[in-house]
Amino acid sequence: MAPDQLKTYVRDVPDFPKPGIVFKDITPLLADATAFLSTINALADRIAAYDVDALFDIEYRGFIFGASLAERCSVPLHLVRKPGRLPREVASVSYELEYGVNEVEIHTSSVQRGDRYLIVDDLLATGGTAAAGIKLVRDQGGEIVACAFVIELEFLDGRKALGECPVVSLISY
Ligand code: AMP
Repeated sequence: MAPDQLKTYVRDVPDFPKPGIVFKDITPLLADATAFLSTINALADRIAAYDVDALFDIEYRGFIFGASLAERCSVPLHLVRKPGRLPREVASVSYELEYGVNEVEIHTSSVQRGDRYLIVDDLLATGGTAAAGIKLVRDQGGEIVACAFVIELEFLDGRKALGECPVVSLISY
């Protein structure tokens, strides 16, 4: 299934979760087994060249895609989670949102110094969340080789927040 066709499985929901936001609803894509499989296959093809040792998967819609992608690529899966959800020793980082501050964590044991990691999420908006994931992994000595997203909101220029990190995305707006 071509990326343009995948777009037909993403629904715009205006003013959700708050006024002015156009929420990209991926539930129609998840509800269609062929579209979901095509998404995972396309992501797997696009990241193959990066020769990754493991994936870091961002809570929580990222988990849906990252789990399948890790299985498809036969690599370990690690989690980037909201505070207080990972049970063992964590590293944390805070980052600015339009209004307020967010925080994410990883298990410090997830990172092997020098290994090659790829970050997965459903959607790249401002890039703040993925940039926080990049910082956490790098601070523990891991190398981030790329970030992969199903959807990219190009008009928000999230790539800029990710610096030199290569970005893979399937559907752009
Ligand atoms: P950001 O840190 O701004 O790149 O935001 C990325 C995270 O917020 C992703 O985990 C998305 O799931 C979520 N997100 C941000 N904007 C949207 C949107 N318009 N529609 C759906 N999810 C969004």
